Amino acid sequence: MTEEGKFVTPGESLGISEEFMPGYGTYEEDGSIFAAVSGTVKIDMRDRSLSVAPKVSVPPEIHDGDIIIGKIWEMKSQLALVDILKIKGVERGLPGNVRGALHISKARAGYVSDLSKEFTIGDVIAARVVDAGREPVELTTAGRDLGVVKAFCSRCGASLEPFKRGLRCVECRNVEPRNVSDIYGKGEV
Ligand SMILES: [Zn+2]
Repeated sequence: MTEEGKFVTPGESLGISEEFMPGYGTYEEDGSIFAAVSGTVKIDMRDRSLSVAPKVSVPPEIHDGDIIIGKIWEMKSQLALVDILKIKGVERGLPGNVRGALHISKARAGYVSDLSKEFTIGDVIAARVVDAGREPVELTTAGRDLGVVKAFCSRCGASLEPFKRGLRCVECRNVEPRNVSDIYGKGEV
């Protein structure tokens, strides 16, 4: 027999249908009552019903000014397109694919002539949300903590480490230009 308030997942046995009525979020099979959804058990002794109140995880919303962690998935000459993986400091994941866009004019505080020297496909970046109301979400990496926080060698695939103003491969010593964040290799990625 289950307990009031217990967290259950689908298929978990809650009790026998001789003793209880199957309520919301449950189903009956072979004389037993099972959870049909993830959630917490509710026992109503008045009508002797068992039900499961679904646990709804509300995905975090993105707001202007949030720092996000994302991965570059496409590079154009003026634009880097980013898969936003999470909001920095927020454990709950984002709902599905949230896309961001980083225009060349927002890559640094100063002028950038070649976006391919700032980012490469596969780079993990920290970026600040400029406009969360846009689709894709508008991002900037102008700021010392912003920019690439994790990247891999385009030649051999090994890790890159900060080197001068760019990155260098720990294996083959290939040096690659990047817009490197001050928190490269340190943050949550
Ligand atoms: Zn390498």
